Amino acid sequence: MVPFDHHLRKRKRSPGWHTASLGALFSTLVIVSACRSTGPTTSKVLVVAIDGLDRRYLYARIAAGQLPTFAKLVQEGTVADLTVTDPLLSPRIWTTLASGYPSTQHGVHGWMKRPGVMYGTSDVSVSRIWDVAAQHERSSLVVGWLVTAPVADLPGAMLADGFDGGVPMTAETPSETGPHPLDTDRVDALASSRRAARAARGCIPSDRELARHPLADQVSAYGAPAHPIRHDESVVCAFEALDGAVDPDLTMLYLQGIDQISHHFWPFVDDASVAAMRRNPQLRSALAQKDRNRQRGQRAYPWVEQPTTEAILTAGSTWVPDYYDTVDALLARVLARVDAAQTTVLILSDHGFQASRAPTAGLFGEHRSPAFFLAWGAGVPASTMEPRPVASTDVAPTILARLQLPVAEDMPGRIRGDLMSLPAALPKVATYRLKEASKALPKEALFDPRRMQQLEALGYIDDQGQPIDTITGGARPQPGPPPKR
Ligand SMILES: [Zn+2]
Repeated sequence: MVPFDHHLRKRKRSPGWHTASLGALFSTLVIVSACRSTGPTTSKVLVVAIDGLDRRYLYARIAAGQLPTFAKLVQEGTVADLTVTDPLLSPRIWTTLASGYPSTQHGVHGWMKRPGVMYGTSDVSVSRIWDVAAQHERSSLVVGWLVTAPVADLPGAMLADGFDGGVPMTAETPSETGPHPLDTDRVDALASSRRAARAARGCIPSDRELARHPLADQVSAYGAPAHPIRHDESVVCAFEALDGAVDPDLTMLYLQGIDQISHHFWPFVDDASVAAMRRNPQLRSALAQKDRNRQRGQRAYPWVEQPTTEAILTAGSTWVPDYYDTVDALLARVLARVDAAQTTVLILSDHGFQASRAPTAGLFGEHRSPAFFLAWGAGVPASTMEPRPVASTDVAPTILARLQLPVAEDMPGRIRGDLMSLPAALPKVATYRLKEASKALPKEALFDPRRMQQLEALGYIDDQGQPIDTITGGARPQPGPPPKR
């Protein structure tokens, strides 16, 4: 493991990395804004799932004049809180967002369905949006979405969860010099076609490419397979590689890095946590003694072996903002391929972030409610008033309606015509349920040697595989968002 002193050296920046794509984005925006229509057309929908994107933090950065892509989308689009319920477990929430059914009906309650076995495609008891699109011969491009392995055969292309072969940031001693876990075997099983597999192989950045990345110092601190930029770059690159050939009606991209970075470094952007560390330089070490995950042989949270110094506070404070900057630039690359007159873009998160609470208050970042919803592009008027919160079960029926696909009678959510203009509704079908869902996470679920360590370290589950409600964050009243700029 590379010691965290490593980060204390001056960070190299290469701002030119994304300059070209930002320029391309803004010329695209200028052109499309002239011909934006609010009327229904042959609609397309593109969803960018940003795990852990926190609205309060995002708005603070935008208010400071940063994150230009997010700023433009917020200014021109419609933003709302997205209501999510405990336990705030990502596979559970992303499956609801992609299907419109709660976990009691879709059957994905967390990460593992039984000891050592992750939930997979065959465990999902309902059709997800891309399945419905496929039934109507509409094409989809799905990249990295959770609970998509083994890969589904669908019109378009899919790269299933895990196609990049990365390992969790918490993994102890990831191989930094050996070959990437993914060479040729895994991607073939996780890509829906040879073309998709080829795109994936061409998109997973090499160590050499990552060494030139603006986040190179972050990558070297964790090792290339463990730092999430490898995954997020792969997803956006695969979208760029496949979008033209597939010409999808529905695109769904999943970015995971903000979540992983926030778990490790959120306290350094949290004023109260920073103040506490400053008051007591030994606090972080003391909290780490109470951190049971550390005693399981996992990689410790950063800078817990030494008194907190101003240099550590400064270095720690760069990780979350730098990763948000990177996602802003990735988003610009995605939007550069979007015709906003035809495509409705949704930016979603599954939860926000807060500093961990007792007994390790301020040691790491943990999930909080609510999540984030943003709509922009075709059919979305620039709103002057914030709509009421969007339920997690509202998202899929609204996307289906926008794509002029039928919703099901038994979907508990609503088609949110207040968020975007929609074509005339089609007759409903009875259900998109495929079979009886498993009702709850099995009690006997134990941890997986690799993935469960990460999940425990992130505070999602206890060592019996059960969700930790207090750690995953309850729905608490949040201060209102800043006014739109
Ligand atoms: Zn998380």
